[in-house]
Amino acid sequence: MSDVTSAGRRAIVVGAGPNGLVAAITLARAGWDVTVFEAASHPGGGMRSEELTIPGAIHDVCSAIHPLAVGSPAFREIAATGALAEHGLEWIYSDVPLAHPLDGGRAAVLHRSVDDTAVALGADASPYRRLFGPLVEAGFGLTDGLMAPFTIPPKHPLTMVRYGAVGLLPAHTVARRAFDTEEAQALFAGLAGHSILSLKAPVTAGYGLMLGVLAHLVGWPLARGGSQQIASALVAVLEGFGGRVECDHRVDSLAELPPNDAVLLDVTPRQVIALAGDSLPSRYVRTLTKFRYGPGVFKVDWALDGPIPWTNTDCARAATVHLGGTLAEITASEGDVQAGRLPERPYVLLAQQSLFDPSRAPAGTQTAWAYCHVPNGSTKDMTARIESQVERFAPGFRDRIIGRHTMNTAAVEAHDANYIGGDINGGVADLRQFIARPKLGLHPWKTPLDGVYLCSSSTPPGGGVHGMCGWHAAHEVLRSVR
Ligand SMILES: Cc1cc2nc3c(=O)[nH]c(=O)nc-3n(C[C@H](O)[C@H](O)[C@H](O)COP(=O)(O)OP(=O)(O)OC[C@H]3O[C@@H](n4cnc5c(N)ncnc54)[C@H](O)[C@@H]3O)c2cc1C
Repeated sequence: MSDVTSAGRRAIVVGAGPNGLVAAITLARAGWDVTVFEAASHPGGGMRSEELTIPGAIHDVCSAIHPLAVGSPAFREIAATGALAEHGLEWIYSDVPLAHPLDGGRAAVLHRSVDDTAVALGADASPYRRLFGPLVEAGFGLTDGLMAPFTIPPKHPLTMVRYGAVGLLPAHTVARRAFDTEEAQALFAGLAGHSILSLKAPVTAGYGLMLGVLAHLVGWPLARGGSQQIASALVAVLEGFGGRVECDHRVDSLAELPPNDAVLLDVTPRQVIALAGDSLPSRYVRTLTKFRYGPGVFKVDWALDGPIPWTNTDCARAATVHLGGTLAEITASEGDVQAGRLPERPYVLLAQQSLFDPSRAPAGTQTAWAYCHVPNGSTKDMTARIESQVERFAPGFRDRIIGRHTMNTAAVEAHDANYIGGDINGGVADLRQFIARPKLGLHPWKTPLDGVYLCSSSTPPGGGVHGMCGWHAAHEVLRSVR
């Protein structure tokens, strides 16, 4: 952690998502007096859990699976002190990180070991080893290179060049060039589908590589007791450094904030414009106005009277199951979403937390969590289409449902104001907005307003629970305010 001490300095953070909380911890640890104002009644932003269906069933309202948190330099730094574990955060690892069923009872399985995964892919064993082996062997070289500050030359040049040569390509191209089997192609498509981009768009292979590497390196764990436990542990760490979170405190204008030396905004560009009123230079307002939000999500949580009856039993070994069939099907489904259409057979990301964490559901019951991508702002109910995809690979699933909770894009945004039109990434994460997020340059966290910084997933490195946007913004503050 930073050894800069800045006693007497005061920071206000707006928003207690992972990025706001990590920013707050980084500054509090450096001696700042930090207060976080959070609009919701509980801290955590995208890391909250609630009893959404039947009494006693704990559901992750947003994030559920956390390779980015476990692999993130910011979380690793905080975890290294033992503080997260001390405050009750325990990661649970399923037997295998990920399964991807296909019709006819087949399934591709991503194991923790590259070799086990390769062997299970049969004819695609060697290509799989060639694609993932060297990147995994580089340890945190790749993920740190992608999440840590950009330097010239990059910190791990060989790994970054190897990654870039494939990662800049569309996932569809890489899957077809690298693999022959439907299993390996579908597995890669499912990984890349997390990008919420067309699989024919550049850099989508990069998402597939990064998430695959993390699965091998650190696993795809869930938090015992619910993702809220991550938020609770971060808040406890912050309080340990003298900081505080004030919930039910929505900030409507920067002008209403108490005197401070720095303000860090865990919100997206549209909200920055609203908070700043007319104090922002028009050029910056134009930049923020041009920032593009991406597709939204439709989310379903279920309470079940038993485990999901997967045809392929390997699916019961994985906390995460990707449902969408073949590379061609997932490409078509994500292509529909990009074109503003609702996919008939959506690519569904499903998690089955209670199978591995019994504290999530009352005895004799199970929980499951799933979402699919939809056009931004869509209010269409996708429940039937999502459930058809589960039923396709687990006949009898519908009969197990004893409770259901759904959220369309409006409900997702009502839960967390950062999810504009249901966009969970804080803005499209294509090549252009990866480089200019929200503006081009080495200091995208800085705004033109003195002492005001942006720290949400609308800054590098983008969406997900990793806290790195907050970590970067806080270090920007520590460098600027002495
Ligand atoms: C359905 C769903 C599934 C997801 N699954 C995963 C997953 O499995 N793994 C993963 O890594 N990521 C996942 N994500 C994405 C992840 O949750 C986000 O990328 C992450 O939470 C972004 O962090 P953040 O700190 O930038 O913003 P947020 O977590 O959105 O936090 C922003 C906070 O700011 C508060 N706020 C906003 N405006 C104001 C205001 N004016 N005044 C005060 N407070 C304000 C909000 O209430 C919120 O608490 C998922 C998201 C969703 C919705």
